[in-house]
Amino acid sequence: MLAVAICPVRNACQFIAIEQAALTDSLTGVPNKRAMDEALSRACCLGDRHGEQHSLILCDLDYFKQVNDQYGHVVGDHILKLAAEELEKAVRNSDSVYRFGGEEFAILLAHTDEANARDVGDRIREFINTIVVNCGDTNITVTASCGVAMRMADESADQWLARADEALYRAKAHGRNCTRVFAAISK
Ligand code: GH3
Ligand code: MG
Ligand code: MG
Repeated sequence: MLAVAICPVRNACQFIAIEQAALTDSLTGVPNKRAMDEALSRACCLGDRHGEQHSLILCDLDYFKQVNDQYGHVVGDHILKLAAEELEKAVRNSDSVYRFGGEEFAILLAHTDEANARDVGDRIREFINTIVVNCGDTNITVTASCGVAMRMADESADQWLARADEALYRAKAHGRNCTRVFAAISK
């Protein structure tokens, strides 16, 4: 009996491990963009069915190309790992951090309106600003910009993401190291 059961159980474990790897960013260990897309769709369903409020923060490291150019990719990779750790420290257990792309992270906040999400955006930036990497005779520090959008009623995941991205663009245009909100318009 046991011998018959071992093979399917092993296959199931392998399947779970492969599935887990497909949803995880290999550099930072946080969930990747694919995982984020699934979570955003789920949040949209919960919002439509139960009226739950969700907010999204896009957080992009400032002038990160310069860090790579000056100190090299290995240092850049190290800072990205530290940034992911700081983001996970800065948010509640019920919130989720994703690596959205290169030096950009997304944070999905459950039961959070845009005023509270803005505060989280500012807290995230403070945490990232505590990172100090010693490189020879220089201490490298980084700043980040955040774009915030609370999901509006009937909004698709893509539309919601586009508003957070627009808010991030405004934060960059404002000089970086700041948080901007794309205000939800009540329908
Ligand atoms: P901005 O303030 O406008 O965001 O400027 P930026 O330099 O951060 O943005 P830009 O889009 O010009 O460059 C992003 C840089 O992020 C370029 C690339 O070298 C770096 N980057 C992206 N992914 C990785 C990665 O996995 N590892 C490392 N080390 N660097 C990465
Ligand atoms: Mg950047
Ligand atoms: Mg970027």
